[in-house]
Amino acid sequence: CHGAKPPPNPEFTLKPKKKKIIQQNEGVPATPCPPCPELVWRSCVGQHIGAERMMVCSDKSQFSCENLCGNPLPCGNHYCTKTCHAFENQLRGSEACEDCSLPCQQEREPACPHNCPQRCHPGDCPPCKVLIKRSCHCGAMVHVFDCIYYNTLTAKGQESVRSCGGPCHRKLPNCTHLCPETCHPGQCTNADKCCKKVTVRCKCQTLKKEWVCQDVQAAYHLTGCHPKDIPKTQFGIGLIPCNSDCKSKVQVVESELQLRKSRVTEVQEPDTEKLVRKRKKRRERVLESKETTKLQKIISRAKRLLLYVLIFVILVAATYCGYKGLLWLSDWMNEVDERRQRYSRMK
Ligand SMILES: [Zn+2]
Ligand SMILES: [Zn+2]
Ligand SMILES: [Zn+2]
Ligand SMILES: [Zn+2]
Ligand SMILES: [Zn+2]
Ligand SMILES: [Zn+2]
Ligand SMILES: [Zn+2]
Ligand SMILES: [Zn+2]
Repeated sequence: CHGAKPPPNPEFTLKPKKKKIIQQNEGVPATPCPPCPELVWRSCVGQHIGAERMMVCSDKSQFSCENLCGNPLPCGNHYCTKTCHAFENQLRGSEACEDCSLPCQQEREPACPHNCPQRCHPGDCPPCKVLIKRSCHCGAMVHVFDCIYYNTLTAKGQESVRSCGGPCHRKLPNCTHLCPETCHPGQCTNADKCCKKVTVRCKCQTLKKEWVCQDVQAAYHLTGCHPKDIPKTQFGIGLIPCNSDCKSKVQVVESELQLRKSRVTEVQEPDTEKLVRKRKKRRERVLESKETTKLQKIISRAKRLLLYVLIFVILVAATYCGYKGLLWLSDWMNEVDERRQRYSRMK
């Protein structure tokens, strides 16, 4: 029932099978054949090339070889690592290939640092939906973008989308003002073309004028110093020259100052230390007296009261004594009179 040499390839093994069927059909009317003793090459259940075995044709038993299955998995990226097994739905005792449980390892397109969230899958990865944060150029706010959206923009598109749309408000490098442009990438351009108004004064600060900042900067450059080195409080001072009435004002002011100074020095120079001491003493006294006045008042009142009482007592005592004295004197006089009368009687 066989051709001369059955080839090992399964595609070719089909042909003799057909032949066999035809032959069997033909042989039905006759007596059944004995089991075919012919030796044939049979492939393993995994259909591995080079693993065929020589078998008796009538022996229909299946065998697996020692190779790994190696069938491509549905993920499209990996191959089955089970040992040789029959494919699903192919024969009795068939077995499914293994499941790929690896995470997706494909490079994202467009490239980004985030891994694909799916398990190993065929075809392209889904667009990256990871949220990424990007601060605006002036630093006033932080944007949140989908990775895929931000990643597919051009460099220019990314820059424009990152602008907050508000005023830049970064401090300009050459002056005391803030950038008036809308939030922009890179350095603040036109730093030397600032249009803010600056009050410019003369050295003595009596004259003042309004200048545009860029003119102030230009004036500083002309004098040979950089406007960024000028402190904020000094910005614009001394840029216009003092004129004549400004000078006279200054002289008046200065002379007044000098006069005051000289007066002060005249008074202070002779024995300034003594003066200071006296002042100190005075201050101390004042302080002490303030503290003692209350007590003193109370004491003086008490003293006055005591004095009145004393005078009163003395007066009372004096009148009492005077009265007694008078009584005693009259008594004594009476006695003396009596004695005299007695003497005269005795005589
Ligand atoms: Zn095999
Ligand atoms: Zn896989
Ligand atoms: Zn397999
Ligand atoms: Zn991403
Ligand atoms: Zn993926
Ligand atoms: Zn901004
Ligand atoms: Zn700016
Ligand atoms: Zn400015």
